[in-house]
Amino acid sequence: MTLTLNDIEVRAIAGVSASKQEELHAFGIFTVKDLLEYYPFRYEDYRPKTLSEVKHGEKVTVEAKVIGLPVLQRYGGKSRLSCKMVAGPWMFTATWFNRPFVRDQLAAGRDVVVTGKWDQKRSQITVTDHEFPDRGSVKTGTLQPVYSVGGKITQSWLRKTILQALEQYGAMIPEILPQSILRKYDLMPRSRAIATIHMPEDTSDGSAGRRRMVYEELFLFQLKVQAFRVLNRGRMDGVVHTVDNATVRQFVRSLPFELTDAQKRVELEILQDMRSPYCMNRLLQGDVGSGKTVLAAIALFATVRSGFQGALMVPTEILAEQHLRSLQRMFEPFGITVGLLTGSVNGRKRKDLLASLQMGLTDVVVGTHALIQEDVFFRDLGLVVTDEQHRFGVNQRSILRRKGYNPDVLTMTATPIPRTLAITVFGDMDVSTLSERPKGRVPISTYWAKPGQMDRVIGLVRRETEQGRQAYMITPLIEESDKLDVQNAIDLHITMTQALPTVRIGLLHGRMTPSEKDEVMRRFYSGEIQVLVSTTVVEVGVDVPNATLMVIIDADRFGLSQLHQLRGRVGRGEHASFCVLVADPKSEIGKERMIAMTETDDGFEVSRRDLELRGPGDFFGTKQSGLPEFRLADMTADFDVLEQARGDAAELLRDGHFWTSPEYAPLRDFLQREQIFQGDLMD
Ligand code: ADP
Ligand code: MG
Repeated sequence: MTLTLNDIEVRAIAGVSASKQEELHAFGIFTVKDLLEYYPFRYEDYRPKTLSEVKHGEKVTVEAKVIGLPVLQRYGGKSRLSCKMVAGPWMFTATWFNRPFVRDQLAAGRDVVVTGKWDQKRSQITVTDHEFPDRGSVKTGTLQPVYSVGGKITQSWLRKTILQALEQYGAMIPEILPQSILRKYDLMPRSRAIATIHMPEDTSDGSAGRRRMVYEELFLFQLKVQAFRVLNRGRMDGVVHTVDNATVRQFVRSLPFELTDAQKRVELEILQDMRSPYCMNRLLQGDVGSGKTVLAAIALFATVRSGFQGALMVPTEILAEQHLRSLQRMFEPFGITVGLLTGSVNGRKRKDLLASLQMGLTDVVVGTHALIQEDVFFRDLGLVVTDEQHRFGVNQRSILRRKGYNPDVLTMTATPIPRTLAITVFGDMDVSTLSERPKGRVPISTYWAKPGQMDRVIGLVRRETEQGRQAYMITPLIEESDKLDVQNAIDLHITMTQALPTVRIGLLHGRMTPSEKDEVMRRFYSGEIQVLVSTTVVEVGVDVPNATLMVIIDADRFGLSQLHQLRGRVGRGEHASFCVLVADPKSEIGKERMIAMTETDDGFEVSRRDLELRGPGDFFGTKQSGLPEFRLADMTADFDVLEQARGDAAELLRDGHFWTSPEYAPLRDFLQREQIFQGDLMD
């Protein structure tokens, strides 16, 4: 076996001590490969300019000559050093704060390169960096990479160490892309691209290096998901569901409504997959309220009638209880048994359920993460459904899947992304989209109110409750402080109880025990509670069709997709519904969000704007999104490249030589390392 950079610990690089190695581990850097692929997020420009090129307030590097006597002022424990200089035709003052020792080096006539902020009005540069050419310069004339650092790892140490690594091991960086692709896009060789990203000659050089590595990242990603598909297309060892049409029809006819055309189409797509020996891996996306749950129910019904068990995993206990109730209602006439497994199901109850699952006495189980615990076994799991998939990590989903033998998988999400994007980023999933909401729904009217208008908002709450409807009032999200969130909800609950003494107002927050939460939700479902004051615990999935008013306090603290999710709690029945955003946004982004919400209630459009406002890093970067994360590539800015890479990967896999030709050996090795051949990728 040949030694690769992934086998060499960072310790092998000159200048990396045992303790430094330890520090690097905190950044996820273990091997030389990790270090070389630790890319800067921007560059500091030390290329000299003339002062006529820069604007007031900009950072600049100038080549200057000392002409005046340095003047040092001390005050308190601090100091300020000023010195007159010339740079071409310009005369200016260079100022250093708290670096008194520089004074002795500023001999008249000496050349010095200073970097700092240019104050045009005062003809002054506040120096952050300087170099004397007569002592040799390092930064002058270069673009210096800026890395994410911290602890004992400093910027300059990391720069030095990465350069050292390039010197020692640069020649060992292997090429992985085939020559044909390098030629097609005129891409740099891999080793040069990596070196260039760390120390670019100039901006265009740096971006060429980046372009190469971005392409590589996206291409490898596409190759991985597509190779998996190619290898598994022919793999016909998934569960075959044998349920016939008439039986499914019977169930669908028993539902209290007729399926929409979109639901019928998706139903067909799901049943087709389930009946084939091909292992279903389908993503069902649809706007909030588009009626995804009933499709999960149909699929679960089909698996049970084919002789298997089904599992439905959801992110919150509240949602699990809700799904339990609605599935029980739908399945009862058919004698299908439904169990519940959440963190608060313990002791005897839990034991009984586990036994019954293992023996196959329980047909369908609904639950939270509790479903993926080690001691949960099924007799014959045929279908796994996850609702609100973005709330789960990839691992959690695959643990559940492994509790059966190649069960079919259906994942549902209410954070829709454009179809082309979905196909591209979920390369290994089939995508179904619910494009319409059930008929007879009145669009939700959304208003933006200022905090000073709370009286009118309360008036609206009164009006809806007088008409027999229900309302939610959501209190703001305080970053990283569950405690403050709770306090906010408690305060609002008091205010509302005083303002509307005859209305029954409930309170729900994350610090309540599961059984307390459950009790409050039960009373809200039944209509006993008319107004529910709550933190965001009701954000996903909750379905109370009689609720027609959603009030969101300090709405600018929420992201756009989250606001849309919250709004989706109303507009679920035949009554006209309203959403009131109470906010006085300080930021432009906050304002934009309010405007976007009042302008559209289409989830796809909301996602598009969210992407625009937040930038893809945030939108896709969240751990919860379930989307792949890249080191360099940016899902939106580099979307064209992603498309190209998709085409290239598909073409390569269609070429019979791919599995045999030596040219593609590095790519096959990559697939091997990614365990593509074990069939263990499907998520
Ligand atoms: P989501 O897609 O947000 O999960 P749900 O599945 O909770 O939406 O459905 C929202 C509401 O619409 C539920 O009350 C459900 O019973 C109802 N519903 C679903 N499909 C239809 C339909 N075809 N016609 C009328 N109502 C429907
Ligand atoms: Mg739902």
